[in-house]
Amino acid sequence: MDLQTTMEAFRKKGYQVSYFPTAQEAADYLDREIDGKTVGFGDSETLLDMKLYERLEKHNQVTHPMKRPADMTFDEKAKESYFTEVLLLSVNGASETGELVNLDGLGNRVGTSLFGHEKVYFVFSTNKIEPTLEKAIWRTRNIAAPKNAKRKGYTTPCALKGDRCYDCNHPDRICNGLVIHLHKMKRMDTELVLIGEPMGF
Ligand code: SF4
Repeated sequence: MDLQTTMEAFRKKGYQVSYFPTAQEAADYLDREIDGKTVGFGDSETLLDMKLYERLEKHNQVTHPMKRPADMTFDEKAKESYFTEVLLLSVNGASETGELVNLDGLGNRVGTSLFGHEKVYFVFSTNKIEPTLEKAIWRTRNIAAPKNAKRKGYTTPCALKGDRCYDCNHPDRICNGLVIHLHKMKRMDTELVLIGEPMGF
């Protein structure tokens, strides 16, 4: 993959693009950039590993569906991310031609990425970038989703076998809504923060 060409493809679609060799440098950058804001999070192994919630909560008002009081449901907490000034999430796949791919079971993560924020940051490792949109979708369905199902402790066939998607009808199926960002959404500044070391799934 030619990183410079890929970054240029994303810029042509209206995105700001930044690159950091390590997750630590990317986390330091985001910690400097986001200050005094309301900040929502999409569930992401990459963002959890970067400890961005813990860093940003010191100088922002943050909300994360996985970090909530005992008397609050996941859905109640997840809805808060629809109304934040800033949204942070990752992607399941991306393409050298400039598309972003995300797959969701409930829809809160992909839903919040489409409208209503001052700024959205997609934070992801360059190892998620595939040559084409078709391959990015394949990666999302056959690599990212099975690993994510396993992380959640589900007993879907992909989680048990760990090799590919079985297009299951399991109650814990996590693949219900596929959102492809073909181009930057209108009226939201959107930045891609690329990380040179492998992160997430
Ligand atoms: S559709 Fe089912 S088998 Fe396929 S990745 Fe999603 S949860 Fe796994």
